[in-house]
Amino acid sequence: MDRFDLVKESFVRKAVPAEVPESKVSDWYGELVFDRAKMCKYLDSDTLQALLACIEGGKPLDRKTADGVARGMKEWAMEHGVTHVTHWFQPLTEGTAEKHDSLIDYDGKGGVIESFDGTMLAQQEPDASSFPSGGIRATFEARGYTAWDPTSPVFILDDTLCIPTVFVSYTGEALDYKMPLKRALKAVSDAAVPICKLFDPSVSKVYSYLGWEQEYFLVDEALYAARTDLMITGRTLFGHSSSRNQQLDDHYFAAIPARVASFMRDLEVAAYRLGIPLKTRHNEVAPNQFELAPIYGETNLSNDQNQIVMNLMNRIARKHGFVVLLHEKPFDGINGSGKHNNWSLGTDNGTQLLAPGKDAKGNLQFITFFVNVLAAVQKHNGLMKATIASATNAHRLGANEAPPAIVSAFLGRTMTEVLRKLLELPSDTPIEIAGKKGKSVGLVEIPEIFVDNTDRNRTSPFAFTGNRFEFRAVGSCANCAGAMTTLNAIVAEQLMDFKSTVDAGLAAGKSLQVAVMDSLKPIIASIIDTVCFDGNGYTEEWKAEAMRRGLDVETNVPKMFCEFTKPASVEMFTKTGVYTEKELIARNEVKWETYIKKVQIESRVMVRMALNHIIPAALEYKAKLLQTVTLAKSVYGNLDGCATELKLLEDINKYVDDIQVKANKMREARKAVNGIEDIYERALGYHEIAESFAALRRPIDKLEELVDNKIWPLPKYREMLFIN
Ligand code: ADP
Ligand code: MG
Repeated sequence: MDRFDLVKESFVRKAVPAEVPESKVSDWYGELVFDRAKMCKYLDSDTLQALLACIEGGKPLDRKTADGVARGMKEWAMEHGVTHVTHWFQPLTEGTAEKHDSLIDYDGKGGVIESFDGTMLAQQEPDASSFPSGGIRATFEARGYTAWDPTSPVFILDDTLCIPTVFVSYTGEALDYKMPLKRALKAVSDAAVPICKLFDPSVSKVYSYLGWEQEYFLVDEALYAARTDLMITGRTLFGHSSSRNQQLDDHYFAAIPARVASFMRDLEVAAYRLGIPLKTRHNEVAPNQFELAPIYGETNLSNDQNQIVMNLMNRIARKHGFVVLLHEKPFDGINGSGKHNNWSLGTDNGTQLLAPGKDAKGNLQFITFFVNVLAAVQKHNGLMKATIASATNAHRLGANEAPPAIVSAFLGRTMTEVLRKLLELPSDTPIEIAGKKGKSVGLVEIPEIFVDNTDRNRTSPFAFTGNRFEFRAVGSCANCAGAMTTLNAIVAEQLMDFKSTVDAGLAAGKSLQVAVMDSLKPIIASIIDTVCFDGNGYTEEWKAEAMRRGLDVETNVPKMFCEFTKPASVEMFTKTGVYTEKELIARNEVKWETYIKKVQIESRVMVRMALNHIIPAALEYKAKLLQTVTLAKSVYGNLDGCATELKLLEDINKYVDDIQVKANKMREARKAVNGIEDIYERALGYHEIAESFAALRRPIDKLEELVDNKIWPLPKYREMLFIN
């Protein structure tokens, strides 16, 4: 089949109808999760009480309770045809890991029974040796364990009962994303509660909330299969831009194509069954780019749900003849994909800590949290960027409408004005909501409604949106836990420091308002013209300005990772109990290793495709041209009238030679870098190689423009991006 057959095949592919139950969503929503309702139905009351005490109060589970829970789960699961069970975890790779075990066991009478007990539920020892650990297991202990996380509900995928677990080494080091996230969530609650108690003594827990927006591309599977680069690396390594891409701005929020709508519907049904509250779906800016977002939830749960949704997307897309691209930059020259992490904090009494309050006191509490979050993002500015940095996200940051590689915060006019006013006025000035009280001079006012104001800035990586911050720099294929762990941890540290300043003020006899404002003012003064930036983040001037302000402007990904082991980061992570220094060092090794492998694979694919796909196609066209020229010569005796052919031949020779030279150079560079012993130095070497991709790509994209369209072997951008 040639490219034209593939294109035709994809173009005529019809939408497969989605399978949507006839009854309304609320009738079957969450039927495949072992949620509260199932717990009440399938567990005896002692077991239920003990489990709830564990989930809500962090009480350890004893063996008897675990057995009781397992019994109930097994009964429920078997009613849904479950035959297997797995510990489901999030190792330091992309995606999740699962190893299925059948429920069958010998019954001692020559037959088998289905069995599932507390031990199987609570702990497993997967063959962990092939997961990245940065030398932790090699150095300390070979085994890794998965242990049940009772705060994430167990769910059913196909015939398998999936138990969300953390993955740790024998000596307790985290080998996954979930464990540090759980530690950070505890740290932020522990640090925030004492501050909340100053305002409302009944607060006993603070929750971190996450609402992610997942961007992705859909490409027809026939075209995808013909693009080795997409298949192996998740992005196109070459491809001349399409004459039309996103310049007409006609894709964003446009009508969803039938096949895509059908895919989205099936995805929603699968998600709803698993209790995942998908809420929003729409076309994104680039052609064939889309987005979905759930209703936000508690961060640990919401992150698990994102991981599950990414799995579901991959599976369900195939039913519709699509492949989902979760890579941050599958196509050059058009928008990439991010995963905006909307984040907020709230108390167990239902107070949203990043939304204006009901009265002056509530507003003071809001300002307290608002300013401290910004202070944390300023203090750990480079770390915030390191936390979202990866070989793949590097292509997106700073290109085509993506947040730049500088982490500044957008506050909007309202909040900027509020902060400036707070600096000027005496510390005992009440902070009122405008409109509620009569206007009087000397008040600091927050307009009543500004949550949905139009004052939004798409160029900011960390934007305040009225009741939450939106961390927009997170990559589309990333595990949100990386960013959420760091963000919650830095805020926890900042809140701890802040509390001691306030305590000193209170001890000196200041009122709460004055003690808080006196502590906040120096912080506001330091952030307002540093990390806070409401201007256009895409401009060159901003880069210079950010550097002047002392913000981190590093763009070299392997270098960014060094932020994790800087003294300030180690101190913050150990003080909050989120990572030990040993874990930080090990994780950086994993990050460098992953970076190296990704670039290495891309570089190999690039060189091979250049030599096996591109040059042969160019030479085929060259042969055709030479034939024409030879024929002309033999008929007319001269080359008059062959100017075009000759010019084409000259250009083809030039580009082919260029490709040949650069491909060989890249291969040699790889060989040299592979010989570097130190992993960090090797990663730096691979960064150089990544930087050289554009040079090899250029002559290839030029050839795509020149070579006879019939000969070109790879589906083109215009085909992959406009067929759906
Ligand atoms: P946008 O207009 O930025 O594209 P979307 O509606 O696509 O917004 O997504 C916004 C996300 O933010 C949703 O997941 C939503 O549930 C979430 N969200 C809303 N309020 C909060 C909050 N207080 N804390 C965390 N996430 C929130
Ligand atoms: Mg959105």
